Amino acid sequence: MSKVALVTGGSRGIGAAISKALKEAGYTVAANYAGNDDAAKAFTAETGIKTYKWSVADYDACAAGIKQVEDELGPVAVLVNNAGITRDSMFHKMTPQQWKEVIDTNLTGLFNMTHPVWGGMRDRKFGRVINISSINGQKGQAGQANYSSAKAGDLGFTKSLAQEGARAGITVNAICPGYIGTEMVRAIDEKVLNERIIPLIPVGRLGEPEEIARCVVFLASDGAGFITGSTISANGGQFFV
Ligand code: NDP
Repeated sequence: MSKVALVTGGSRGIGAAISKALKEAGYTVAANYAGNDDAAKAFTAETGIKTYKWSVADYDACAAGIKQVEDELGPVAVLVNNAGITRDSMFHKMTPQQWKEVIDTNLTGLFNMTHPVWGGMRDRKFGRVINISSINGQKGQAGQANYSSAKAGDLGFTKSLAQEGARAGITVNAICPGYIGTEMVRAIDEKVLNERIIPLIPVGRLGEPEEIARCVVFLASDGAGFITGSTISANGGQFFV
């Protein structure tokens, strides 16, 4: 029987590419999403992948949603924490609400999603947790104190859980994408994108969602069992750690 992979924010953008790539690699995929029903319906119609709606920012909703996925598809072997939002603002103008929403989704969301699957992974002596962080969690970014803090926190979470999961056959890794051509990035003013962002990327272009998805498929594979606590930077040469 094929392993079950659960991808948060799995019906759009990078998450959609991850869901599709995992399906192609033989997994039974569940794609979670927050509220864009039209996108989710279109995604299921295109791919045949089941979608599940709940917010990763809500612990009880995560526990209930994961239970539904496991009842319908089987135990989650691969969890991809991909869901993320931006609420950009220079710090002097940032509201507590902008701070909270981003921390709740992009950082606490990892706790909310991983905690309910962790016990089962430990019992079964197998698990793959793959966290989609960001280049801006590695280097910081003006206008994104909330986002960069959450994404840096994701890396601390990854390294800590990697140590806790190692003896139980669970690997926990992170991927830090640079600028990838999804709606989140296309929402940036075109002039800013063309004049101030793309020139900073040595390969001279935005990344493709599929380029992140291929990293996920590798980290999820049985062959990646010795890799844990690692961060893959996929950023076109923009930043080295
Ligand atoms: P998109 O905005 O294209 O898609 C975001 C996805 O996350 C959507 O499916 C959305 O659901 C879902 N989502 C948002 N909030 C929640 C929530 N509370 N609960 C469940 N699902 C939620 O984002 P990207 O594909 O661009 O980004 C994916 C990840 O990659 C994010 O974590 C982002 O921070 C990270 N990243 C992206 C980069 C980029 O250049 N694009 C660069 C570096 C990192 P719905 O469809 O319902 O809205």
